Formats: sequence, C-alpha cells, structure tokens
Amino acid sequence: MGILFVISGPSGVGKGTIREALLARVGDIEDSISATTREPRSGEIPGKDYFFMSDLDFGKLVEQDMLLEWAEVYGKFYGTPREFVMKTLAEGRDVLLEIDVQGARQVKAKMPEGVYIFISPPSAEELEARLKDRGKDSLESIERRMKSFLDEMSYLPGYNYEVVNDELETAIHKVVSIVTAERCRIQNKD
Ligand code: ADP
Ligand code: 5GP
Repeated sequence: MGILFVISGPSGVGKGTIREALLARVGDIEDSISATTREPRSGEIPGKDYFFMSDLDFGKLVEQDMLLEWAEVYGKFYGTPREFVMKTLAEGRDVLLEIDVQGARQVKAKMPEGVYIFISPPSAEELEARLKDRGKDSLESIERRMKSFLDEMSYLPGYNYEVVNDELETAIHKVVSIVTAERCRIQNKD
C-alpha cells in the first residue's frame, strides 16, 4: 500500500504553494485532483487544477458515493474523487491530498493510517495580508475566510504534524522531511 499524505489548514496559509513545491521536489507522489463547483480562477486549467462542474453534477457524484470526502467551503462544494485515491494507494504509490479541515477530518475517520499535516500561519495578521496579496479573492470573501480562521485552527489536535508557514523555504523543507521520514518507517517499507 502507498502512503496517503493530507495537507490541510486555513485558506491562504500557503497549502497550494507548499503542495506545488512538494510535487516538484519529491518524486513518486500522486496529486489527487478535486471536484469543485466554484468558478475557475484566471490561469487555472480544468482537469489539472480541479474538475470544475455544476452543482447538479457534483450532487450526482455525492449520490453515487464517488467522493471519499466532500465539504462546503466558503459557499462552494469541493470533494475528493474516491477511485483515484484507492486505486493509486492499492498500486503501492503515495497520494497527496490538499483539502480543507472538514474534509481532512472525514478522511481521517476512514483512513486513520494516513499522514495528516496541518499548515498554520505565523499569525492572523500575516494570513490576512497573504490573502490580500494573492489578489484572487474579493474583500468580502477575504472577510469570510478570516472569520473561519479560528474555527479552522480548532481542528489542529486531530493532525499528526503542524508546520508553521513562516519562511516559505523552511516550511517546504519541513514538509519534504515529513514525507521522507514517513517513507522510512519500518511499517511503511514493502
Ligand atoms: P492556500 O492554498 O492555503 O489557500 P496559497 O498557497 O494560495 O494558500 O497562498 C496564499 C498566498 O500567500 C499566495 O499569494 C502565496 O504566494 C503566499 N505565500 C505562501 N506562503 C508564503 C510565505 N511563507 N510567506 C509569504 N507569502 C506566502
Ligand atoms: P480554493 O478555492 O482557494 O482553491 O480552495 C478553497 C479551499 O478548499 C482550500 O482550503 C482547499 O484546500 C479546499 N479544497 C480543495 N479541494 C478540496 C477537496 O477536494 N475537498 C475539500 N474538503 N476541500 C478542498
């Protein structure tokens, strides 16, 4: 069996940035592509960044139990297609999920043997500054994300690791080290 790695944490904390760096630096890790009902942002590629779909089509995936987990995040639906994750792990390859805290809790209940990594911000002020600098969310949406921040932090005790994303390169190094260490565990060796 491959190892399931789950990166989660508040919006704007740097999960996507760390995920990209991890995929570039660590070989043999398969990125799970989520389904979502939100609109694509400029530059996002359907089928690569997300499977973008209507509420109706997302509802069908839920009904047919094709999602390993799903959640409503800031008014839109997001979910992880189940088959890709299960098939890839069964083939002995590691899988990476980058999902919100509600989804990570659902996955942990089903797959407690996974490795759960919580990315936290150095401070609430820094998180807000990053969301503004990213320039991809409206002020209203940033306000909504900041309101959820404390609630999202309360999920931290359910995780195996916390990485504070202060200096980016240090945070990436920590996440790469966690992946490397987990792969060296005696029980994870084939
Ligand atoms: P998330 O995927 O968690 O919503 P992103 O990866 O999109 O967050 O990061 C949010 C913004 O913060 C982006 O503009 C990103 O470039 C920036 N960022 C990420 N990590 C750091 C860091 N350590 N220091 C400063 N800015 C960062
Ligand atoms: P964004 O719209 O900024 O790409 O993502 C918003 C939030 O949804 C982020 O916290 C991201 O991690 C989360 N997310 C992305 N894909 C999934 C998924 O498949 N399931 C869940 N539960 N959350 C997801």
